Amino acid sequence: MKKRLGSCLCGQVKYEVKGEPIRVGICHCANCRRESGSAFTFYAIWTRDNFRATGETTLAHNGQRFCTRCSSHMFAYDDDEAEVQLGSLSDAPTNLVPTYELWVKRREPWLAPVPGAEQHLEDRHTRRADDDRA
Ligand SMILES: [Zn+2]
Ligand SMILES: [Zn+2]
Repeated sequence: MKKRLGSCLCGQVKYEVKGEPIRVGICHCANCRRESGSAFTFYAIWTRDNFRATGETTLAHNGQRFCTRCSSHMFAYDDDEAEVQLGSLSDAPTNLVPTYELWVKRREPWLAPVPGAEQHLEDRHTRRADDDRA
């Protein structure tokens, strides 16, 4: 089974994900922008069984975990799933392609939609942006 490795900036926290993710997405929402300090987040979901981490992390209010030393943000998990911020993988590019985008109404106007990716105006349960053309 394919393994991917990741770590924080200082290397104190390391993790491994096995196999292909359940889904890969991009989110442009206000929380993702604030949390990352960037225009969007790029993440994927693996089953909890296929995710393993070592090192010390702090748990933020929204379930995200940060390195206690360098404060890099890499993942969140519960008993079922792990959500990994793909920019923290060791190999770049990751060759993982988003199949959906969330909160596209917050997307920067200079940023093009990912070809073929579902476009959701808000979260995954709201109508798609392309419904507007119907
Ligand atoms: Zn660190
Ligand atoms: Zn978001």
